[in-house]
Amino acid sequence: MKAAVFQEVGHPLAIQDVPDPTPGEMELVLRVKCCGICGTDLHASSTQGGVPDGCVMGHEFAGEIVEVGKGVPDHFEVGQHATSVPAMGCGRCGDCLSGDVMNCSKIKIIGLGREPGAFAEYVRVGSYETLRLPDSLPWDLGALVEPLAVGLHAVKVADLKPGQNALVLGGGPIGLAVSLWLRFFGLRSVVVSEPTEARRSLAIQLGATGTVLGGDDLAEEFYAHAGGPPDVVFECVGLPGLLGQCIELARPRSKIIVMGLCMAPETIVPAVALAKELNLQFVLAYHKEDFSFTIDLLASGRLNPEAMVTHRVGLGGLPAAFEALRNPTTQCKVLVEV
Ligand SMILES: [Zn+2]
Ligand SMILES: [Zn+2]
Repeated sequence: MKAAVFQEVGHPLAIQDVPDPTPGEMELVLRVKCCGICGTDLHASSTQGGVPDGCVMGHEFAGEIVEVGKGVPDHFEVGQHATSVPAMGCGRCGDCLSGDVMNCSKIKIIGLGREPGAFAEYVRVGSYETLRLPDSLPWDLGALVEPLAVGLHAVKVADLKPGQNALVLGGGPIGLAVSLWLRFFGLRSVVVSEPTEARRSLAIQLGATGTVLGGDDLAEEFYAHAGGPPDVVFECVGLPGLLGQCIELARPRSKIIVMGLCMAPETIVPAVALAKELNLQFVLAYHKEDFSFTIDLLASGRLNPEAMVTHRVGLGGLPAAFEALRNPTTQCKVLVEV
């Protein structure tokens, strides 16, 4: 099959022929229909040791079941539409059985090194982690389930109440997924801080009640929108200095939810956070239940993330689109239609 293969840091992905995947016990093979490019892919592929040479990335996918391995429950059949939590757990431990596969000690992540991902014609998935998609659900929405589940998980962890005010730092796909959920769950003000004009206008389309440019005036800009400091701040950028800024502007006893992947050391002044009794909560990934909830809402038309998708490319156009996303201009979520 054709796949977009990671070469080495500093080189674009290469479209190559690689062996077709075959399903092992309790595994399925999907014919990939659509797969999103994620900031994590960009980050991992620009970091030495981030992903091994020869890796096929792509963890936000939807496709059609084409092969069913031994032992797979008979509610899965060839021809069905599906997506999967991009991980394969042992399927036996308490975490796997409760749907919290990301905590399984035997976990193999799909698309970031251990298991090949879906920037390819076919991808192998675990039946335990796979969820069916309704036939009527467009493939692009199927590929958005994963990033939406990331946003949902963070918003659930924040444990907000209707009527509260939130600040979201960053108008990339994850920041926008968070703002979409915040609006869904009834927050009063959802303000997205984002320097790029195109992403600010997307934020408004996706549920933000206001946008700000960010920078040194962030606290004042938020106050002007919401009439007070935020009840929660979602940090969805991952650059050094932002945690300190969040701590400075947060309301006493409020929460800061940290989602941005920052690999550099970060300096904060603990006394400022201590004086306000802030709750600094780091979050990662999702639970299988976040996938099924997202699928239900997409299928019933109650959640509409379509505006998040700004560009679509074929597998052949993926390497160039992938490199272009390193310095995004008008792009938000770029989907690969295989
Ligand atoms: Zn992702
Ligand atoms: Zn397990």
